[in-house]
Amino acid sequence: MVAASSPPLLPPWEADLRPEQLARIEEATEQIGRELFARFRADRARIWQRRWWDDRIMAWAMRDERLKVELFRFVDVLPMLRSNEEVAGHLLEYLDRVPDALPWWLRGLLRASRNTRVTRALLARAARLASSDFARRFIAGSTTEQVLRSARRARRQKQAFTLDILGEAVISEAEAEAYFRAYVDLIENVAPTVNQWPTVEQLDQDVLGALPRFNLSIKLSALDCHFDAIDPEGVMQRAGERFRQLLRIAKEHQAFINVDMESFDKKDLTLHIFKTILMEDEFRETADVGIVIQCYLKSALHDLHELALWARERGTPVWVRIVKGAYWDYETVHARAEHWPIPVFQQKWQSDATFERATRYVMQHIEYLRPALASHNIRSIAHGLATAQVLDLPASGFEIQMLYGMADVEKRALAERGYRVRVYMPYGELIPGMAYLVRRLLENTSNDSFLRAGLYEQTPVELLLRDPLQVGKQDGNRSRSRRASPAPRG
Ligand SMILES: Cc1cc2nc3c(=O)[nH]c(=O)nc-3n(C[C@H](O)[C@H](O)[C@H](O)COP(=O)(O)OP(=O)(O)OC[C@H]3O[C@@H](n4cnc5c(N)ncnc54)[C@H](O)[C@@H]3O)c2cc1C
Repeated sequence: MVAASSPPLLPPWEADLRPEQLARIEEATEQIGRELFARFRADRARIWQRRWWDDRIMAWAMRDERLKVELFRFVDVLPMLRSNEEVAGHLLEYLDRVPDALPWWLRGLLRASRNTRVTRALLARAARLASSDFARRFIAGSTTEQVLRSARRARRQKQAFTLDILGEAVISEAEAEAYFRAYVDLIENVAPTVNQWPTVEQLDQDVLGALPRFNLSIKLSALDCHFDAIDPEGVMQRAGERFRQLLRIAKEHQAFINVDMESFDKKDLTLHIFKTILMEDEFRETADVGIVIQCYLKSALHDLHELALWARERGTPVWVRIVKGAYWDYETVHARAEHWPIPVFQQKWQSDATFERATRYVMQHIEYLRPALASHNIRSIAHGLATAQVLDLPASGFEIQMLYGMADVEKRALAERGYRVRVYMPYGELIPGMAYLVRRLLENTSNDSFLRAGLYEQTPVELLLRDPLQVGKQDGNRSRSRRASPAPRG
């Protein structure tokens, strides 16, 4: 209950830190960012390492936007293709659209392979193998044993984990039940093993005490085949009941449950179920639970403020994973096609600045919201570390989360500096995992991606570390001066 004398909890757009604190944060961000960058760029992959080859393939695919689009189309459609003929046919059709983007030897290879059934089968096999092999970089394993091995390897490097079960959209009750069972099996079978592992102080303790070692990320839409805002009561009954059961089983096995955030149409419903159930007497004191705020959404800071007010009333804090959001292309294209207002920012600096504002807000209110910063962007992470420094928040009071297979050098550098780094580990069959893979590829190779600019394009550090608000101001000035200059003639 909120005491009548509690100070008002102002929204993030009304109150920020003091100007001198913001100046100190900016200074420290610059310094921490430069240190991380030095490490990032010194630890370049060598030719004999797998990473070197992956980086070359990504750089090659990004050289030509048309080639990139055709390759992504192929990876996207691959799970649906049954025969070798279909696989080879699609690959040739897509690559035929961009012959000038291919090197001469690949053009020759494709020409030779289209002639006979046998060579087409070989091409299909090579394409399947290459795609699965690439997917393995981002997917921690297909079986529980494999994912446990990945988790153990991470812990040896002082990195914690959260597991995610990959799968396709749930469209029947049987699939929702199967998903639920898979979550239950994972908690019941894996958590006891993980709980026996030796303690790693940096990962298993925070300012309030012991942290669960077993951490599971779930999608509420996987628990119901009709997860639709049109029927909140029905969803609450079906997905809500399964969520309650998961919370009970998690408590029994000292496991942590994080609710992932999906596309915008599911956002309000996800927050509603999360808040309603965790406010119930049975779950009101559950602390090992978290939710996600996507900072590319124009509503992000409003949702964050509502979440803080709710957590204050509940009396037990929850973890908040702050992300930018994984569905930017989908949200933009979908809203445009339907003539709806676009729910996501259209300029990258706006998502970056909102991420930073959300970070400061959560770090200012750790008694209600516990910060988990999920980003591979060194500026975003450095700003978080700098804010913690200025607010005197110890390293164990927050965590940094990164995806499996991405930014491994950053993960190592942060873990070695004593921060709690948690790796998001998707696991499951590679073929259903392709949708996940395409999202990761889009993210890594989009023109606005930090990893693209920092890793593949060698953009100068000072540009990558710029305050997003300054980037916005400069962009604004540039477009104003463009508007002010006379229109070119002819
Ligand atoms: C551990 C972990 C868990 C995650 N869980 C979730 C989750 O539950 N739900 C979810 O949606 N995402 C999730 N993500 C993905 C995350 O949202 C980002 O897509 C990803 O981390 C890339 O952001 P970045 O800060 O690392 O990189 P950056 O390169 O700095 O940012 C890229 C992001 O900026 C945004 N962006 C790109 N172009 C524009 C533009 N023109 N205008 C405005 N914004 C733009 C997009 O969100 C894009 O993904 C998770 C990420 C991590 C690391």
